[in-house]
Amino acid sequence: MSLPLSHPQLPTYDDVKAAAGRIEGVAHRTPVLTSRTADERTGGSLFFKAENLQRGGSFKFRGAYNAIAQLSPEAKKRGVVAFSSGNHAQAIAYAGQLQGVPTVIIMPQDAPAMKVAATKGYGGEVVMYDRYTEDREAIGRRLSEERGLTLIPPYDHEDVIAGQGTAAKELFEEVGPLDMLFVCTGGGGLLAGSALATRALSPECRIYGVEPEAGNDAQQSFRSGSIVKIPVPATIADGAQTTYVGAKTFPIMRALVDDILTVSDAQLIDTMRFFIERMKIVVEPTGCLSAAAALSDLVSCKGKRVGIIISGGNVDPRALAGFLAG
Ligand SMILES: *Cc1c(COP(=O)(O)O)cnc(C)c1O
Repeated sequence: MSLPLSHPQLPTYDDVKAAAGRIEGVAHRTPVLTSRTADERTGGSLFFKAENLQRGGSFKFRGAYNAIAQLSPEAKKRGVVAFSSGNHAQAIAYAGQLQGVPTVIIMPQDAPAMKVAATKGYGGEVVMYDRYTEDREAIGRRLSEERGLTLIPPYDHEDVIAGQGTAAKELFEEVGPLDMLFVCTGGGGLLAGSALATRALSPECRIYGVEPEAGNDAQQSFRSGSIVKIPVPATIADGAQTTYVGAKTFPIMRALVDDILTVSDAQLIDTMRFFIERMKIVVEPTGCLSAAAALSDLVSCKGKRVGIIISGGNVDPRALAGFLAG
């Protein structure tokens, strides 16, 4: 499979490599974890790329830092604006703080309190909106016009996609080629970037995006061949409550990914419990999507070398306790 190549707006693996150079020494090279229990349960060899241990608590730091690093000095001075249900916001605020760039973050009123607090803690100016009645993109555009801010979207941006691809790049560099790779999927930035790295470093590897069952827009889009929009899905995977995949992420997904799978909230909770009990790590519901697909045998991992990108670990302790008790 190959991309409709040299499309000027779409990133390539060269962009992923350039992003890796920009984030080097700034982003953590997160550990790759293994678990005998997971291997016994699936019959495969599973390699977990622990982006829950990334700066800011998710892989989003990679794309955010890469995008901000490429702004002109004037644009850096004016600042950036981002809209996000949480992790992209935190990542932009943190990456902005590290590069001396002011940040304005547009967040839904029902965003997890911990994510709002963390964003403010990194020096981000937070603007709230109602996700059911207001259009965050319109608010973002207005703010960028009024204040000269550069809008950095959470997934549909070539520098963001390229930055997100650096996690899979590191995974392959550390463990070598794989048979399968599972990637948590919302708007498809992580999946598209991972696919670029995979096709360069482990071309035969099968790539699966995994999204919440309640919001299977990526699966519908992937299988039908055009972007399908859905209402805001009801799922505990708040980082994947996107209602459509990106105009830039979609063609990359279509060209390079093998399939999109879905898992239920109950499977996500089982997986969160597995990570805590067996691997001693805290993973947020959205970060469990990829592992949930592998551990519940949606595609057999038997005899395979399997990569799993754990995408983030930002979950409010009280919410986590509720999930585990429920
Ligand atoms: C944003 C996010 C996702 C989805 O990433 P996309 O690039 O939008 O597909 C998955 N997991 C976590 C933890 C996230 O923050």
